[in-house]
Amino acid sequence: MLDIQYILSHTDEIQTVADQKGIKLSVESLVKTYEERRTLIQQIENMRATRNNLTKGISVLAREKNKAIEAKKEDVRELNQRIKEDEKHLNEVQNSYNGLMNLVPNIVSKDTPIGLSDEDNVEIKRVGEVREFNFAIKDHMELAEIHDMFDIPRGVKVAGTRNYFLKNKGLTLHRAVQQLALDVLHSKGFTLMDVPIMANRNVLYTSGFFPTGEDQTYHLTKDDKYLVGTSEVPLIGYYSNEVIDVKYPIKLAAVSNCFRREAGSGGRDVRGLYRVHQFAKVEQVILCKNDLDLSNRLLEEITNNAKEILNLLELPYRVVSVCTGDLSQKNYKQYDIETWMPSRESYNETHSSSNVLDFQTRRSSIRYKDEEGKTHYCYSLNNTAVATPRILIPLMENHQQEDGSIYIPKALRKYMYDEEYIKRS
Ligand code: AMP
Repeated sequence: MLDIQYILSHTDEIQTVADQKGIKLSVESLVKTYEERRTLIQQIENMRATRNNLTKGISVLAREKNKAIEAKKEDVRELNQRIKEDEKHLNEVQNSYNGLMNLVPNIVSKDTPIGLSDEDNVEIKRVGEVREFNFAIKDHMELAEIHDMFDIPRGVKVAGTRNYFLKNKGLTLHRAVQQLALDVLHSKGFTLMDVPIMANRNVLYTSGFFPTGEDQTYHLTKDDKYLVGTSEVPLIGYYSNEVIDVKYPIKLAAVSNCFRREAGSGGRDVRGLYRVHQFAKVEQVILCKNDLDLSNRLLEEITNNAKEILNLLELPYRVVSVCTGDLSQKNYKQYDIETWMPSRESYNETHSSSNVLDFQTRRSSIRYKDEEGKTHYCYSLNNTAVATPRILIPLMENHQQEDGSIYIPKALRKYMYDEEYIKRS
């Protein structure tokens, strides 16, 4: 959410950003609705004041037994009727205003590339060598079959498409990458958390995922709760409606299951574990002062944390600057990290790192007091530390050997019973 005063003085900028982000919003309508709402509020207040004066006058007339009292009472009845009508109208205008405000996008950093879709994202760095194989490679599904690591047909039997079981070393690897990520973040001073993965509608809204992301979210209708698509939702909700101490940035990391409907992804990425309805993610969330330089530095820091984990996994990757058309409503600036996937012969998104400024904290009312005691909204940032099973794709495919065994990076071995390879049993 943006401050309405900021919107009113930056209408062209907000309209441009809404257009760039592909959000159907008319800022002109928003401004008109805002003004209509303000006029109505003023009108109602004036009528209430007049009515109160009349009512006081009526008490005096009553004491004096003055005959003018009936006419005054009629005036009050009329005013009450007009107030009621205007309140009803205000209610409608308020709803339209809220609906339009819910669509207002966050502003975008000056260095964000202008573009329509992820194809216009701009590569800023490549790390690691893409391995040249001197044998016919297997994809992660073929490798999993050799080692009995996943079972997709039975996942589909139990829960429908895009569901799966992880077994044996498939599960061990899935747990190992999460624990490695948690250990790395622990060593950097993050507070590690386990979080509710069911959230109230309000938290989905205040963390910036609703109403725009509602289509992607599972709704538990009986209890009117939602399954979160990322632990960013409960981590932002954690400090909602609080004044917190951000003398030092608050660094949170949670490990959770994440649920996504993947509405609209139709026939995309149907083979294997790339796009599934349920996955696990270790997520970093930071809350800090409303200082742009500080938040920019923290964005680099959380991006570097993810890069460090990829280095420990000995995987080649690239960092891209996400363009306007691929930026979500709430993001001010975003990097994606894409890891090389041999079977796809391309880099594919495995991490997303975002600076959100005060978009979430304004909706969530997360504030801090500066040295002078003045209250401000915090800034928030988030990034994936690791998301699995997607990361198992590059991990298994890049580290495969000719005989089908899979090399285990050194940093992972302590979570993999000290084995150097996943071998046929
Ligand atoms: P996001 O929270 O959308 O930025 O996604 C963060 C990371 O979660 C992505 O980079 C992927 O690694 C992973 N991810 C997101 N959606 C899915 C999905 N449907 N299936 C598997 N992994 C996913």
